[in-house]
Amino acid sequence: MTSQSPDTKITFTSPVREPSAIPVDDAVIPFEVNALDLRGRLTRMGPALDEILTKHDYPAPVGKLLGEAIVLTTLLGSSLKFEGRFILQTQTDGPVSFLIVDFQAPDRLRAYARYDGRRLTPGLDSGALLGKGHLAMTIDQGADMSRYQGLVALDGGGLEAAAHEYFLRSEQIPTRVRIAVGEEFRGGEGGKHRWRAGGLLVQFLPKAPERARQADLHPGDAPEGTVPHTVAEDDAWVEGQSLIGTVEDVELIDPDLSGERLLYRLFHERGVRVFKPVSLQAKCSCSREAVSSMLKSFEAKDRAEMVKDGKVVVTCEFCSSVYEFTPHEAGVEEGA
Ligand SMILES: [Zn+2]
Repeated sequence: MTSQSPDTKITFTSPVREPSAIPVDDAVIPFEVNALDLRGRLTRMGPALDEILTKHDYPAPVGKLLGEAIVLTTLLGSSLKFEGRFILQTQTDGPVSFLIVDFQAPDRLRAYARYDGRRLTPGLDSGALLGKGHLAMTIDQGADMSRYQGLVALDGGGLEAAAHEYFLRSEQIPTRVRIAVGEEFRGGEGGKHRWRAGGLLVQFLPKAPERARQADLHPGDAPEGTVPHTVAEDDAWVEGQSLIGTVEDVELIDPDLSGERLLYRLFHERGVRVFKPVSLQAKCSCSREAVSSMLKSFEAKDRAEMVKDGKVVVTCEFCSSVYEFTPHEAGVEEGA
C-alpha cells in the first residue's frame, strides 16, 4: 500500500517538514496537537513484538491479548523520565489468568502470560479471555524510591476499557487509547506469520484545568431513575476524540504506513508536531548469575527438591531461557 504525498499546507510554525514516509517499527513516537491541547504517543511494533510472542508459541488469541498488553505498556511506560520500571499485570478468573509486561526504561520489554488451553474456545474477545479480576500498574524507580501502584477492576472488558477507566478514576485526565494487534502472513498459506501491533494514546491537557471536565462513566447498576452525570465536554476534546475515533485497526498495524504519515492523516488539519521516536527492544534481564543468587535465597530443603535427574533446571518464564546447574552449583548439600 502506498500513501499519497501529503499536502504541504501545514498550519503550525517552523520547523515544518513533510511527514516521513519511512515506517519505523518497535518505536514510540511522542506528538502534540497544540491547536487542540492534545498530547499523545503512537506505538508501532513489529520484530520485537514477534520475538516476545513467538518464543512462547502462544495460541493466537493469547498472543493477541498479550500483544495488546505490551502495546498498552509501551504507551504508558515510555513517558518515564528516569531509569525505572513500569510493570503491567493482570490477575483474573478467565482463560488467561495472569499476564505481565515488564518495561525497563528506556527501551527494554519482556512479557509472558499464563493460560488454560482447555478454556480457549473460539471467538473469545480480550475481555472474555481475561474475565474478572484486576489490572495493576506498578512504577518502580529502584532502591530507596517509593513504588507507585494503580489498580483497575477488570469486569469482562478489554485493556482499552481498563485504561480509560484508570485515567478517568485515578488520573482524571481525559484520555483515549486505541490498540490493535494482528498477524501478518507472508508467502501465502503455510507461510510464516509475524505479529504486528500499533497503539495510540491521546490526552487532553489544556492549561485551564476546568476545560478538562469529563462526563462520568455510565453508572452500570445505578437504581432506575438516577439522573446520569452529564458534563459538557470541551469542544477541542470533542473534536480530538472524534479524530481518534477514525483510526482503524489496519492503519495502526499497516507495515507500509509510517507512523508520521498516520499521525498526519489523523491530525493534519490542526497541525501535528512529532518528536524524536523512542525505540523499543525485546530484551530479558535474566542471567545465570541472577538465577543462581535466586536459588541461593531458597531454603536448603526447597533447593534439594529441585534436583531432577542429577541437575537443577530453571526456565525463565519471560524469555524461556533455560539455566542448568549441578546440585553443587545450586547449593544443594551432598546426600541431602
Ligand atoms: Zn529471561
